[in-house]
Order: sequence, then C-alpha cells, then structure tokens
Amino acid sequence: MTGSMNTTHFSIESEGLTDVGLMRAANEDAFWIDHGRRVFVVADGMGGAAAGEIASKMFVESANLVSSSWTVEPWQPDQLIQDIFFLANQSIYQHSMKDPDCRGMGCTAEVLVIDDTRYTVGHVGDSRVYLCRDGRLTQLTRDHSWVQQQIDTGMLTEEEGRSHRLRNVILRAVGTMDQLAIDLIRGNTKTGDLFLLCSDGLTDMVTDQSIRSVLSGKESVSSKAAELVRRANSNGGRDNITVLLVEVMSDE
Ligand code: CA
Repeated sequence: MTGSMNTTHFSIESEGLTDVGLMRAANEDAFWIDHGRRVFVVADGMGGAAAGEIASKMFVESANLVSSSWTVEPWQPDQLIQDIFFLANQSIYQHSMKDPDCRGMGCTAEVLVIDDTRYTVGHVGDSRVYLCRDGRLTQLTRDHSWVQQQIDTGMLTEEEGRSHRLRNVILRAVGTMDQLAIDLIRGNTKTGDLFLLCSDGLTDMVTDQSIRSVLSGKESVSSKAAELVRRANSNGGRDNITVLLVEVMSDE
C-alpha cells in the first residue's frame, strides 16, 4: 500500500454480504473489498452452466490484480477503474471465445473508489450504486437495461418497468464484446455518506423507499447489510442478492 491516498481525515467502515436467495441453486454474484486502497466491487454474472459464476469471479480477480499492483502516483481512481474494467473485459471475453460452454458469458459490475474527499464510480450493466446522504437516497448509476431505455423515452413508466417481463434484459455487460464503454460518476464525499453497491437481486425485490428506511437508520453497516438481504428474501428472494455498504466516518 502506498501512503498518498490515505492523507484524509475520513475513516471508512464497510460490509459486504452475498446470499444465494430462495430460488437459485448457485450464486453468480461476487463482491470484493480493498479496505486500504478504498476500492469496493460488486459483480453479477450471467451465462449458462457455471459461466456466470466464472465471469463475476474473473471481474473480482481483475480488480484484485489491478488494485494490488497499482504503483502510479499520484493516485488516479479514474485510471484504476478503467484498468480494472479493461482487464476484466479482455479476460472474460477471451475465456468465452475459448470455451463453447461459456459463449455469451459476462457480468455487470460496479466499482467504487473513495479518494480523499471524492468518490468515483465505474458502472456497467444493471447492478447499482446508491448514495444515502442526510437521510436522502440517490441512485448514482443508471441501469444499462432495455426497461430503463423504455422509461427514458417515455414508453414505460417506472411502475410498469418494475414488473416488466423483460426487466432483466441488459444492454451492456463486461466481457460480451471486445470493446466496452464504462460510465464514470464522480462527486465529493461528506462525513456520514453511506454508499450501497448492490446486484439486481436486491433492487428487484426491495423498493427504494424500503432501502432508504434501512440505510437512514442508526444501526451498524453490518446490521443494515443483513437487513437488506433479509427484506429481499422475505419478498421472494428470486435472484442472488449482494449488498456492499461503505460508510464515510469522521476520524475524530
Ligand atoms: Ca442478478
């Protein structure tokens, strides 16, 4: 670990939790935390047989490789995030070309980097990053999904989108093509900020109001993470559920 990224008066509390849910036999989600560098990752795999599991694991391995070998000074979150997505995209795409059982494999992915007083999010697919600040919940990412596209063009309402039979059709994923466009979202952090990275197994089952009520409580990040998973399962648990909470605390 290099020292330059830790000159802040913030400390970070984080908790990741993944759960197979109630309907699926396997868990195709993965998460990863680099507490020292303040890099946080959630990936949700797709593809037949074990391909989805392999894809999300390959994303996490790419994050680990890039982050742990990062020596560029000063610390560059944008570049780090792009390198992670680039390596993961190449690895997954090449794997899918070699193995016929893995054709079409890929994953959605969220990478959050907290750097001094800023945050940077890299986003591809329909996993999400939310920020809960002063009791208000904001979705920082916009789903790369067919349903979101229909909502944006006024063809569907948010309400219709929630229950639409094509709600799981995504328009962008890591590893399905040799090129990849990444959304980068940046902002300033504030003491008390609580970030949530999650897979669609949470957001298909739990409304934003319900997520907000959990996140704005006084409990620890671990009990909040457990409560989000509990709510997704009690609403049906139709998919794998992954939540990663990152809280920005004052050092004093
Ligand atoms: Ca999923």
